[in-house]
Amino acid sequence: MRVLLSTTAAMFALAACTTTEAAAPALATAAATPAPAPAPVASAPAAAPAPNTQPFARVVDLGSGISMLIGAGGNLGLSVGDDGVFLIDDQFVTNAEANLAKIEQLAKGKPKYLINTHWHFDHAGGNETFGKGGAMIFASDNVRKRLTGEVKSESRGAPQVPAAKVALPVVTFVEGIDFHLNGQTIRAIRAPMPAHTDGDTFVYFVEADVLHTGDLYMKDRYPFVDTGSGGTQAGFIAGVEKLLTVAGANTKIIPGHGELATKADLQAALDMHKGARAAVDAQVKAGKTLEQTVAAKPLAQWTPRFGGSAGSDDSYVTVIYNELKK
Ligand SMILES: [Zn+2]
Repeated sequence: MRVLLSTTAAMFALAACTTTEAAAPALATAAATPAPAPAPVASAPAAAPAPNTQPFARVVDLGSGISMLIGAGGNLGLSVGDDGVFLIDDQFVTNAEANLAKIEQLAKGKPKYLINTHWHFDHAGGNETFGKGGAMIFASDNVRKRLTGEVKSESRGAPQVPAAKVALPVVTFVEGIDFHLNGQTIRAIRAPMPAHTDGDTFVYFVEADVLHTGDLYMKDRYPFVDTGSGGTQAGFIAGVEKLLTVAGANTKIIPGHGELATKADLQAALDMHKGARAAVDAQVKAGKTLEQTVAAKPLAQWTPRFGGSAGSDDSYVTVIYNELKK
């Protein structure tokens, strides 16, 4: 049973944050045969992708003992110093052992503190392995509720898998929490309202001026609004506005996915979010149906920069339209 659950979780994980919502039917039907042919989605992984077992591929040194670790899945943030190893996110269940081994080698120790920016399997999937390795896990209250299954996540056709006890955050917070480690004030700040999920947190290293956004921001991509986990498009506008109050001109920004970013990149994302909402709102006010609105391609001016995967503009239009019609 446990293996089966893990496999299902891993399959879901492979696309949790990086593909469009339209990929969900393909993932959902992958485990159940026979199934109707899923709608073609250019960015969707193969029906039964091999689980990712590789550790992060690259280490970007941001100074002050802080690094950005990049590989498949969400970007990790690492702080190493006299007080121990502090880690932001832990990617998948399937590559957790490999990630832990590589971090231990890099940091000369295992993470003592681990914070989840949100519950998704490509960010918090390694919790069990890291918890067993001795990490104390921190997250917002809603992340714990999603991981225990107390609050189900209903999107994407995938059931929420209750996590093992050792994988659960032992310290939860509502608005935020500060760590005082490795010469840094590390400020974990809850997003002002549900955006990517209902439990989003971003993390700011005050002295080093490094900001890990979680999936409140993915570099040059349309966002994934996980409405089945309470996410909202309005929350992205509020969330990125909040990020912009923290980020300065020289802040090194670790996005949830993608390469290192700047405040100017964040500002471009905010302009896109606001512009997209206004463009879809104009269609709603003109009495257009969802189908007509999607067909009108109201996000065309932003898609060259933010439409990394085919159909991601249509998915974003759909989310905004449905939210505005509520
Ligand atoms: Zn995510």
